[in-house]
Amino acid sequence: MTFVHKKRYGQNFLTDINLLKAIVSDAGVDNNSEVLEIGPGLGSLTNELSLSAKKVVSYEIDRELIPILNTKFENSNVKIINADIMNVTIDDIEKNFDNKYVLVANLPYYITTPIIFKFIEQSKKIYRLVVMVQEEVAQKICAKADDKNYGITSVLLDAVGDCKITRKVNRKLFTPIPNVDSAILRIDLHKKYDIDFKKFSSLVNNSFAMRRKTLVNNLIASYKLSREEAEGYLLKLDMPTTSRAENLTTDQFVKLYNFMFDNL
Ligand code: SAM
Repeated sequence: MTFVHKKRYGQNFLTDINLLKAIVSDAGVDNNSEVLEIGPGLGSLTNELSLSAKKVVSYEIDRELIPILNTKFENSNVKIINADIMNVTIDDIEKNFDNKYVLVANLPYYITTPIIFKFIEQSKKIYRLVVMVQEEVAQKICAKADDKNYGITSVLLDAVGDCKITRKVNRKLFTPIPNVDSAILRIDLHKKYDIDFKKFSSLVNNSFAMRRKTLVNNLIASYKLSREEAEGYLLKLDMPTTSRAENLTTDQFVKLYNFMFDNL
């Protein structure tokens, strides 16, 4: 079979059986698991998932791959759907699942972050995301306060889940070989904080808006606060008034959110 990889769909495929098994194990998939896979490609990861899971639903954008996948997974626990995942509503995706499900995806890098946020913001049934991401993106997401990689996505994802790099993946394990190394990122969703995600997200984005400015100056610019009010919030957090957004932990951002939206 000859298949020409399409660059526009980020088609860098995996074949290393040990790595494929490791991804399934990192995802904690067992015979009770319902799995949403995005981007099955030629079905190598799909196959390993299907061997361990109760059910796998795989969305693939590339029409040319559909007959290959349908033949490969005929009479199995895998359902193949031809669609661009960004154009399918969460409600339609979730009709495929009776229970909570885990998302497993090896996707083109340019859509990984939008997909993570689509599910985090809208899903009612997802409990875990296990995604292949560019190594630097994984490091940014898992960074803690005061780390040079710490930023908006680190805070937002830490506020909704436990984020962990389960393994690094050398670029040579992909065909064709991409320009960057990758990592498997696992996010176990939790409900630790009672926040409105959109409102919290806008506070975090505004706090980091001008990175070279202090948090107080960013808050004044975005929320029309007096300097005294903005400095008052930092003092309540036991933080120096000269702090920058990158000095605040997720806990402190949530406290700031509570102070501000109770007081505004
Ligand atoms: N899972 C396979 C593997 O590990 O070998 C393929 C991974 S490849 C990096 C990404 C796959 O995602 C490709 O098959 C591509 O066609 C598919 N894809 C890209 N964009 C997509 C989208 N928006 N919706 C669904 N599938 C997509």
